[in-house]
Order: sequence, then structure tokens, then C-alpha cells
Amino acid sequence: MIAVVGIGANLGDARANVADALARLETEPGCRLVAASSLWRTAPIDAAGDDYINAVALVETTLDAHALLAALQAIEAAHGRERPYRNAPRTLDLDLLLYGDAVIDSPSLTLPHPRMHERAFVLAPLLELDPGIAIPGRGRAADYLDTVADQAIARLD
Ligand code: ADP
Ligand code: MG
Repeated sequence: MIAVVGIGANLGDARANVADALARLETEPGCRLVAASSLWRTAPIDAAGDDYINAVALVETTLDAHALLAALQAIEAAHGRERPYRNAPRTLDLDLLLYGDAVIDSPSLTLPHPRMHERAFVLAPLLELDPGIAIPGRGRAADYLDTVADQAIARLD
């Protein structure tokens, strides 16, 4: 199965945290990193704090969707992720954006990620990896770019 993982960080050395998340996805049992986007810099949405560093990864996995989410949360925890309040600054946030074309609505996991089409920091790196990608139930990801045009985002090299 191919899963799409969204990565973000805005505490500590955010760039290093995102790079380490990619390295951990590579070595996570049952996971293989297929591709990683560039790093992108974005302003926080509905929150204070430093700019975010964001990226999107394609991961080939033998884990089911809930097990993959648990693995992502373990990587967050290894980075000391704390959740003091909603949208708090974070050392590392790993969101499961897509799991193949699965549509899931369970208490701990919603797929596709319910806000992915509203966020430039997801759409820009995702479209870098796959310009034609579709979001199950929503249509082509590229068709949502216009709706996030007001969100400042810059690609890092
Ligand atoms: P956010 O990323 O939305 O700022 P968190 O990372 O704290 O917030 O996630 C909150 C909860 O969202 C987690 O406990 C997780 O179970 C749930 N969740 C539901 N669907 C997903 C998904 N597709 N990817 C990641 N977390 C999800
Ligand atoms: Mg999250």
C-alpha cells in the first residue's frame, strides 16, 4: 500500500526534525520511503509561533492504516511531542493524509485527512510529488490550489 504522510515542525531545529522524521520513516519496520518532497516554509494557521517547516512523504507500507498512524505517533513521541493545547507549536507533527484510496471514519483516524485540501502546506509538497493525485471523495488535489492562494508558502532548496 502507498500512504502519504504530512510532516510539520515549528519548535526547536524544525528543519532537522523534519529531516529526522524522513530518516525514521525509511527505517520504520514495514515501511519504505518512496519519495519525499522539498522542504517548504509556511506561516502558522490559527496559531502563534515560528514559521513551520513542512514536507510530504510517500511511504510504501505493509502496516494497516491504524498501525501506521501508531508508528507515526511513536516517531512524534520520540521527538518529545507534547500537546498542551490545540494547534500548539510542535517539535514534530506527522499526519496520515492518504492511505491508498481508503476512506475511514473511526474515532482515532479519519482518512483522507479531513483538512488536507484546505492547506497550502499539504497541497504544494503533495503536488510536487504527484501533480495528478486525487483525494478520495474530493477530486483532484490541484483543483484546490486556488482556494489556498492566500496562504504564504515558500519552497526551500
Ligand atoms: P493536528 O495534527 O490536527 O494539529 P494532532 O496531531 O494532535 O492534531 O492529532 C490529533 C488526533 O487526530 C490524534 O489523536 C489522531 O488520533 C487524530 N487523527 C485522526 N485522523 C488522523 C489522520 N488522518 N492523521 C493523523 N491524526 C489523525
Ligand atoms: Mg497531527
